[in-house]
Amino acid sequence: MVEEVIINNKSYFKCEECGFVYEERDWSEKCEAWCKENHTCSLKITKHSVTP
Ligand SMILES: [Zn+2]
Repeated sequence: MVEEVIINNKSYFKCEECGFVYEERDWSEKCEAWCKENHTCSLKITKHSVTP
């Protein structure tokens, strides 16, 4: 399950598999689906991650 986290009054979405944080739920869900299936990260997805 994607976890919603609030940092500095902004909400982010965290992939529970790899811990990457995204501004858009869409990307975090894609990331988590990928991580679960492949047990690795996809650069195409993680490049959309943010460092809050
Ligand atoms: Zn992930």
